[in-house]
Amino acid sequence: MADKFDDKMERLVSLCKRRGFVFPSSEIYGGLNSCWDYGPLGAELKRNIKTFWWDAMTNRRDDIEGLDAAILMHPKVWETSGHVEGFTDPMIDCKVCKARFRDDELEDKSKCPRCGNKDSFTEPRNFNLMFKTFMGPLEDETAVVYLRPETAQGIYVNFLNVKNASRQKVPFGIAQIGKAFRNEITPGNFIFRTREFEQMEMQYFINPKEDEKWFEYWKGQRWQWYIDLGINPSKLRWHEHGPNDLAHYAKAAYDIEYEYPFGWKELEGVHNRTDFDLSRHQEATGKKQIYRDDATGESFVPYIIETSAGCDRTVLTVLVDAYNEDDSRGEKSAVLKFNPKIAPLKAAVLPLVKKDGMPEIATKIYTELKKRFKVFYDEGGSIGRRYARMDEAGCPFCITIDGQTLEDETVTIRDRDSMEQTRHKIAELMDFVSQRVG
Ligand code: ATP
Repeated sequence: MADKFDDKMERLVSLCKRRGFVFPSSEIYGGLNSCWDYGPLGAELKRNIKTFWWDAMTNRRDDIEGLDAAILMHPKVWETSGHVEGFTDPMIDCKVCKARFRDDELEDKSKCPRCGNKDSFTEPRNFNLMFKTFMGPLEDETAVVYLRPETAQGIYVNFLNVKNASRQKVPFGIAQIGKAFRNEITPGNFIFRTREFEQMEMQYFINPKEDEKWFEYWKGQRWQWYIDLGINPSKLRWHEHGPNDLAHYAKAAYDIEYEYPFGWKELEGVHNRTDFDLSRHQEATGKKQIYRDDATGESFVPYIIETSAGCDRTVLTVLVDAYNEDDSRGEKSAVLKFNPKIAPLKAAVLPLVKKDGMPEIATKIYTELKKRFKVFYDEGGSIGRRYARMDEAGCPFCITIDGQTLEDETVTIRDRDSMEQTRHKIAELMDFVSQRVG
């Protein structure tokens, strides 16, 4: 299905390719549908977003531990979790042009949106979204393993390991960032829906009596995280899952949605998964997943509040939200107004001209700053063009070494968003950048 990009989205995708944020995968072979590679700036941006999440969800807290579980898990995990049987989407095919769609996503089923033929669809059939592969040299049913479709199960099966190793007491959480794979029927909208993607998930284990309190707490925390990330709050909203779209394991579920150029869509899910997962694993393995609260004497299978965010989808959200077209900026009008904390480049060092000792001073400043930050040195082209290049890269500060620097050891700092220039002492640059990006 053709992506419903408006022109602005197309221009953002083109900027992402041109400036090295995101490339189509295997492009010289014609690309691979829905697979994307992060280029130099994209890899930095994605890494910074992951660090921002990891810091907020683990390092700044005492009650959450990190985990990095394997992508391949015992195949029985996926039987127990319900994925082998139930992780399906209903698909329909056009009998004329063979195009395939998700039945629940197509508004008008009387006509194929690809070829226009009327009443050309097959009956809906369930399609399992898990990627299968084989472990070891035999390619038969006994060797089937799955590429995990969510990172959550790696956390559930390690609940006791983490609890015992870290000596955490309920309530506590386990956080994980990692790849997940889903053989989506209709991937698309750039990096919004892909078949290989990264998730940032946290599972919080609680006393069942306190589920509503913790559910509200995590809704609040996760909303605030996007605000801290710099996302415009007017583009965010909650969507509550009603009885018809509530997953079989969930007691309550809310999505944080963002208004993309192609509509309001899910960015993250906050779910009350009850004791469904741990109870199922307990039943399947015979290993008790019971927590005993020494203070109260209670024993229970913990309930789980899950916060499940897509990392690639957050990268897209950050890009869309930061993208501005601003005619007052001269020849190149696009600017990416990233929060400096996640910007791929923290500062650019630019000698005004390639003479009079300016490149030497600039190189010294650059060498010093790059000990702590990702900074960029550029002496090519007019200063206006260099500023424009940095605006497109989303670099928040341009440090320019000019004639006055030679006299009083000061430089100008141009602010990406206001385009204002202020003078600062070279000796204060490290503090200046540090205070704004730290
Ligand atoms: P949908 O209904 O859109 O398929 P979902 O409700 O199945 O999504 P979850 O299983 O709750 O999604 O996954 C949690 C998060 O993982 C989503 O909010 C999203 O950010 C991300 N995610 C899920 N599927 C994809 C995908 N195919 N590509 C990129 N990110 C994804």
